[in-house]
Amino acid sequence: MSSQPVNEPILGYAPGSPERAALQTELDRQMAEVVEIPCIINGEKVFTGNTTTQVIPHKHGHIIANVHQAGKAEIAAACQAAIDAQEAWIDMGLEARCAIFERCAELLAGDWRMKVNASTMLNQSKTAFQAEIDAACELIDFWNFNCFYARQFHDMYQPLVSPDGVKNSTEIRPLEGFVLAITPFNFSSIAANLPSAPAILGNTAVWKPSRNSYHSNYVLMELMIEAGLPAGVINFVPSSGPDISDVCLSNPDFAGVHFTGSTAVFQGLWQRIGEALPNLKSYPRIVGETGGKDFVVAHPVCDEQGLLVALLRGSFEYQGQKCSAASRAYVPRSVWGRMGWQLVAEVRKITMGDARDFTNFMTAVIDQRAFDKISGYIDRAKASDVCEVIVGGGYDGSVGWFIEPTIIVTSDPNYESMVEEIFGPVLTVFAYGDDDFEGALKMCDEASPYALTGSIFATNDADVQTAFNTLRFTAGNFYINDKPTGAVVAQQPFGGARASGTNDKAGGPLNLLRWMSPRSVKHTLDTPQDWGYTFLEPDE
Ligand code: NAD
Repeated sequence: MSSQPVNEPILGYAPGSPERAALQTELDRQMAEVVEIPCIINGEKVFTGNTTTQVIPHKHGHIIANVHQAGKAEIAAACQAAIDAQEAWIDMGLEARCAIFERCAELLAGDWRMKVNASTMLNQSKTAFQAEIDAACELIDFWNFNCFYARQFHDMYQPLVSPDGVKNSTEIRPLEGFVLAITPFNFSSIAANLPSAPAILGNTAVWKPSRNSYHSNYVLMELMIEAGLPAGVINFVPSSGPDISDVCLSNPDFAGVHFTGSTAVFQGLWQRIGEALPNLKSYPRIVGETGGKDFVVAHPVCDEQGLLVALLRGSFEYQGQKCSAASRAYVPRSVWGRMGWQLVAEVRKITMGDARDFTNFMTAVIDQRAFDKISGYIDRAKASDVCEVIVGGGYDGSVGWFIEPTIIVTSDPNYESMVEEIFGPVLTVFAYGDDDFEGALKMCDEASPYALTGSIFATNDADVQTAFNTLRFTAGNFYINDKPTGAVVAQQPFGGARASGTNDKAGGPLNLLRWMSPRSVKHTLDTPQDWGYTFLEPDE
């Protein structure tokens, strides 16, 4: 049994540090090239000629890649490659499979770190720090800890009892068929984890990356190949959502989907899987982590400076494009009166611009569609008579898709920006009467369909406990006196329920359980030779 891994230390990128210099050199190198990104099917590079470009969100005139899109024929070939690769992949055994993914972690912690971080900074417009905690540290942790958890299952799930003459055992099998991994743009770590977590357990995968993270996701695919991933185990197919679901879901060997992305897309997929069911060999596993409307609730007695920092970091780091980003806050009027203006003053200090300028706290949002959607929320708030935009509210998409960190104060706790996922740098605050903490908790619980992350700020244990109980089902990841973002693998396994997903907890052992289909084996050493039973014997 290998020893328990430790979380990957986060590099600081301070001025003069070697990692800062190395990252800047790598950023310059990647800025100077345009990568030709193929599909990777059965280990082969497939250049389809049907290309789309990948641009830098904070400088969208700059192309960093031409991406060859898979059509239906290539997707079908990827499914077949995954099916064909599975037997040999299972036969390799858990140890050999873990050795490959632990090698991936080693490469990422070493020589590949700057390549992956620079690519994530340019492709998804992350600051050096945001790239480091996502693309390097979280993914290294996913690979190392998932291998550790998988090894534990093999011991944990053996039958408790084998009577005399019988040997009972459990074979930890993967699912029969291939897993479809559909991945979001916002975390490179999630993108690589969704196909590789099932693969550790012997599954093979078709990986559909997001159209907004092809460059960084391709670098990670190359890394896995360098680490020794056999052909066909993970097949990389940039493609359209409708094409991937048409082809994969109509394949009888479709065994499961590992999805992270928006709620609407996941709900559509689930419905289509229901329709496809009669033609499938198995009941597919459906694992999806989706949207959030993550909250901060403050009690009148709380650490007000801590609350300020949590709101600023939680709402605006990575431009609010974390599924866990704080986007609604319920603050007592007295507290808001004291710290609201200070928060505004601090938000005005936030620097925004090119990710390569390390003095920037924020960069651009991911694409034109996100820019239009977020600026639409801001414009409607400006025009609303129940809202006031107290800081930010500006946006400029001319060079990059930049949106100022924005705070809306509303008198309506059910206003659209208090209940809908915006996925941008917009925080809405509702100031409640100081004597109505429990009412604010109830509002928070009932206002939105999501239940991903949330924080409570309160000094007294009894108030924390009240919030803990009232908000039991309001968040799958619950924070006390901290921001609601920044979950760490093996520390806070991540996922939410209600409209936020199936809560299968990436970064913990529970997620891996979904990718196995155990076989119970009874080996009888003393096989019965007589078909009769004692009860059949006549009374004397
Ligand atoms: P998205 O839903 O737009 O896209 C996710 C993936 O689904 C992409 O690969 C996309 O191409 C694909 N897709 C889109 N339409 C499809 C279809 N019809 N069939 C099959 N696939 C389709 O999400 P996004 O913009 O990439 O990511 C942001 C969303 O992800 C937010 O809602 C965020 O909250 C969520 N998210 C959740 C978590 C979590 O752990 N809960 C983590 C990260 C992101």
